[in-house]
Amino acid sequence: MSTYGLTDPVRELRERMRKFIQEEVIPAEPLLDAEGERDREAMARLKESAKRQGLWALGHPAEIGGGGLPFMPFVYLNEVIGRSHWGQAAVGTLSMQDSIMLHLFGTQEQKRRWLEPLVAGEIYPSVGLTEPEVAGSDPTLMQSTARLEGDEWVIDAHKWFTSGANRAAFTTIFAITEPDADRHAKFSAILVPTDAPGYEIVRVIPTMGHTGGNHCEIRLRGVRVPKQSLLGPRGAGFVIAQKRLGPGRIFHCMRWLGQAQRAFELLCERANSRWAHGSLLAEKGEVQRFVAESAAEIQAARLMTLDAARALDEGGEARVEISLIKFWGARVLHDVIDRAIQVHGALGVTGDTPLERMYREARYARIYDGPDEVHRMVVARRLLRDPHGAPPWA
Ligand SMILES: Cc1cc2nc3c(=O)[nH]c(=O)nc-3n(C[C@H](O)[C@H](O)[C@H](O)COP(=O)(O)OP(=O)(O)OC[C@H]3O[C@@H](n4cnc5c(N)ncnc54)[C@H](O)[C@@H]3O)c2cc1C
Repeated sequence: MSTYGLTDPVRELRERMRKFIQEEVIPAEPLLDAEGERDREAMARLKESAKRQGLWALGHPAEIGGGGLPFMPFVYLNEVIGRSHWGQAAVGTLSMQDSIMLHLFGTQEQKRRWLEPLVAGEIYPSVGLTEPEVAGSDPTLMQSTARLEGDEWVIDAHKWFTSGANRAAFTTIFAITEPDADRHAKFSAILVPTDAPGYEIVRVIPTMGHTGGNHCEIRLRGVRVPKQSLLGPRGAGFVIAQKRLGPGRIFHCMRWLGQAQRAFELLCERANSRWAHGSLLAEKGEVQRFVAESAAEIQAARLMTLDAARALDEGGEARVEISLIKFWGARVLHDVIDRAIQVHGALGVTGDTPLERMYREARYARIYDGPDEVHRMVVARRLLRDPHGAPPWA
């Protein structure tokens, strides 16, 4: 496994994190699955334990109460956290992209009200960008509106896949505020409490993967919030969404490494213990191919994730690096889990191993935060424009 750029303090932190995930979070998975997405006793106990052990909120900026780890060392931690579906919630890194967004664009009052409790793990955020009526992969098509009336924004919006809205304290709603502006400068971001009058959770959308479900369709009818609820400048919604999505994508990729690695280990364990047709599965050429290909793909994905993290740490937007690993990482995640299921045979599709849940959730990865095709388009357009000078081959 690559340890490129891994320093001793991060190595030590990673070992403690690995122990916590392995010995406390993974054994609690059946209980956490039964409790569902909301914080009940098992999750609350894990959060307390992570805080006690100094493992809480390590990737959030230090100025807002986090551990202040840059992106690159955080890859090494997050791949360990990501081994369990519940890891991020247990160590307070579930909403890091929202924390970065509020940190960059929030006023002092917005930070006090939303960011501080978010980093402390007391509240959850949610984001309403995607709308059912128009293509989410092109946010400039959005139709929701917000207009200023006196000292208040009046919002009319219909959103879906607002993940976690049913447990969130607030939703960052993206809506058109500047109808006559250029399509990238038309919309703004507004922080809306989920208990505001007129804010309705229409339904929790049944989806593959999330048994309890937390992807919501929401409707805001004439919701009024003070004008100070605007996040960042008017018309800056597109920029704010991009500043949130960039880090968000790389956090996903880090976490997928952990999921793929866990599936890989299960694949190897099964291959080493299952006997068929005169030998262990591990001795079959086909299964060895699964092992070797998965190892190569995970290693490639890890290095690409580290490279994108390095580019972000250096202050760049890392558009090419992030798009490369977003579609590549999603495919690796899917393929490794798929092979692990195959080696488990029928057992692989049961709930007796974590693989079937991992597989269902892996399918989302090719769609959320931009479908594969859009990321390939971003990469191809930029490289075609400047094939010699484009990062990371400059
Ligand atoms: C699990 C999950 C969680 C999500 N959470 C949130 C959330 O919290 N907040 C939020 O606002 N949204 C969320 N989303 C929505 C997500 O960001 C959108 O689904 C995504 O941006 C794609 O938009 P769409 O579904 O409208 O697909 P569309 O934009 O309609 O695209 C459909 C398909 O068309 C193809 N396509 C699109 N553009 C191109 C192109 N340029 N070239 C070639 N093919 C193309 C792709 O195959 C794509 O999958 C979530 C989605 C999922 C699945």
